[in-house]
Amino acid sequence: MTRILVVEDEVSFSDPLSYLLSKEGYDVEVAETGPDAITAFDSDGADLVLLDLMLPGMSGTEVCKKLRAESSVPIIMMTARVEEIDRLLGLELGADDYLAKPFSMLELVARVKALFRRQEAMSRNLRMDAGVLSFNDLTIDPIAREVHLHQQPVELTPREFDLLYFFARHPGQVFSRLSLLNQVWG
Ligand code: CA
Repeated sequence: MTRILVVEDEVSFSDPLSYLLSKEGYDVEVAETGPDAITAFDSDGADLVLLDLMLPGMSGTEVCKKLRAESSVPIIMMTARVEEIDRLLGLELGADDYLAKPFSMLELVARVKALFRRQEAMSRNLRMDAGVLSFNDLTIDPIAREVHLHQQPVELTPREFDLLYFFARHPGQVFSRLSLLNQVWG
């Protein structure tokens, strides 16, 4: 079952939201604070995080950074502060999408479905045979550490190879510089 973690302190908002998403067949968990959200994510994981920007204590921005440091989970930010949006979607924070409050619940559900559809389509295009990733005319062999494009070998440095292989394994996902540093550079 597809799991969605909703991070929002206003129950009058999170209640109808989780009701609607449950009705759509998603497994929904609500966290009311940033630390609760991190704990819930660490113990149960999630396929998507809906994250409110305005939270008491730890802000949505901090929660987003913390999640990004350990995971490439898609994150949709919810915010009433339109001037924040560029920064939210920017590389430093790495949210995948945003919804400007006020928004309709139906719009949110449509956005969630679209995000999952996009991911599904991406991973359908990605074939995996014996560890070799193929994407149209591009193949990446992680054992031999070889890359071919249109049947021609591509010369890459070890780091370039790691980066390409990492992106190929996470189609349709946006990563912050920090999470790439952590996950590729180690
Ligand atoms: Ca809030």
